Amino acid sequence: MIRKIRLGLWAFLLLSLAGSQRLYPQNSSADLVLIHGHILTVDANDSVAEALAIQHGVIVKVGSDAEVLKFAGKSPGLRIIDLRGYTATPGLIDTHAHIAEGGENELYSVQLSNAASIEVILDRVKAKIRQAKPGEWVTGAGWDEGKLAEHRYVTAADLDTVSPNNPVWLEHTTGHYGAANSMALKMARITTATADPEAGTIDRDPQGNATGVLKESAMGLVTQLVPPITLEQMRNGILHIEEVLHSEGMTAVKDPLIDQIQWDAYKSLLDEGKLKERICVLWSAGSSMASAQKALNEINSVRRIPQTYQDRLLSCGVKMFMDGSGGARTGWVYDNWLRNGTTPDMTRAGAPNRGYPRTDPEIYQQMVRLFHENKVTVGTHAVGDRAMDWVVDTYALVEKAHPLRGLRHSIIHANLPTAHALDVIAELQKKYDAGYPEMQAEFLWWIGDNYAGNYGPKRNQNLIPLKAMLRRGILWSGGSDYSVTPVPARYGIWASVARETAKGTYGANPFGIAEAVDIHIALRSYTAWGARQMFLENKIGSLEEGKRADIAVWDRDLYSVPSNQIKDMKCLMTLLDGEVVYHAEGSPLKGSGQ
Ligand SMILES: [Zn+2]
Repeated sequence: MIRKIRLGLWAFLLLSLAGSQRLYPQNSSADLVLIHGHILTVDANDSVAEALAIQHGVIVKVGSDAEVLKFAGKSPGLRIIDLRGYTATPGLIDTHAHIAEGGENELYSVQLSNAASIEVILDRVKAKIRQAKPGEWVTGAGWDEGKLAEHRYVTAADLDTVSPNNPVWLEHTTGHYGAANSMALKMARITTATADPEAGTIDRDPQGNATGVLKESAMGLVTQLVPPITLEQMRNGILHIEEVLHSEGMTAVKDPLIDQIQWDAYKSLLDEGKLKERICVLWSAGSSMASAQKALNEINSVRRIPQTYQDRLLSCGVKMFMDGSGGARTGWVYDNWLRNGTTPDMTRAGAPNRGYPRTDPEIYQQMVRLFHENKVTVGTHAVGDRAMDWVVDTYALVEKAHPLRGLRHSIIHANLPTAHALDVIAELQKKYDAGYPEMQAEFLWWIGDNYAGNYGPKRNQNLIPLKAMLRRGILWSGGSDYSVTPVPARYGIWASVARETAKGTYGANPFGIAEAVDIHIALRSYTAWGARQMFLENKIGSLEEGKRADIAVWDRDLYSVPSNQIKDMKCLMTLLDGEVVYHAEGSPLKGSGQ
């Protein structure tokens, strides 16, 4: 309904513009101009312009109102959008967001990301069960014990009180663990006697009984039983999330862990003219040579970059996992994980918990070598400092043995780089155009209270060290890791500057602000630098002549407002290839043809 109203308003503006066509002589050099704006171009000089002209979705002139209007002349059918002094930026780019899966989840699963207590979680599960048949699976996602009043995991015992006859699986917001009820555990044949699978943990109470919480590979024991998502559900999820992205000024996303079904959903929407985002995907490569070969086959069956599908869909490489999560204390680290910022976390065997590799380190190297030699870009999930060292050293190893400039292998998350890792990254970028961190400053906010307690005061100061990277000339790109954190890029831009946690459990700034960057750099990491990681830096990421007209208009000037306001900025209008894909209800922006 809301969408209809928006389109209706826009159609009205176009009609009123069409009425003035006869005033204009022939020879069009632009079909759309944006004037009276405060346009943050994010070009190399960070220039600010007043106006820009667009022809067939491409920016053809940037400058003052007078320059742009003179350039556009009085072309027939010229549309004019009066920005009325509002701020425009390049369309924002998220280089790590699981949008297909997340969008599908928002439509079909129980939403728990704003649940403040276990009681709320149980109420929502109960409501969903009322609509389900006995025995039908009920799934949900987004819970985080850091935000729950009880400050503990959801357990099978909790879930059994509302769901005795339906198997339940509730994924944690990080995606690295989740909670099953007893029926789901029974179906998965998990008992007290079941041993932990390799690279996974079955959480247990002091008596050794499975609590229902499963971490990393142990999740698969239950999730493999959940009926698969259909292509139609996936397509609906993508269409749903597209609307959300447009309403947040976001026009390009890297979807970093896809299988054939996501690709087919994206491709079919593209073929129908319904894909109104630029999507760059990383295929799931698994943790073995066999799964790597499968991913390679999938990649070989579609176009390789620099070839694209209309610059809207790109096959950008593979995703691999070196370790787990900072939230689940499964990231591979040199020093002990902590509980509540002080108490050392111990494994079941009584040893200090320092996480573990999720892929055998030697196999990981072989897999990277296979992809590199086949000229496939690798993105590796690495959270802990030990995992990061292994990943960057592996990249350096394969590049040295077989130098290939421009593959842009990336380090996904890169929470805790050592000084060594930063040195290697700086060199990889310079020598091979590789080794780019794809980072989530938003973690510091959304799961920051959880993180602060797990990493502890010593490591907290060096988490997501944007300033240290900037000092070394290292480029990175921003992202949300949605559904781990909310998808709007404005949160990550703000978090890059503010480094504040959501609840302040360990004080407002447990991470300090020494590693914060300013808003100019933060915006660049969600625009120009993001475009590089999508292999589209010549087409998007800044508002310059020759680039695609992907533009977001905002209700405030992010360069001049107090930084705490960046988080709340509202998008007024979004354009993709010069097409208005979002116009906020009640927006003050006006088209004007007079
Ligand atoms: Zn992710």
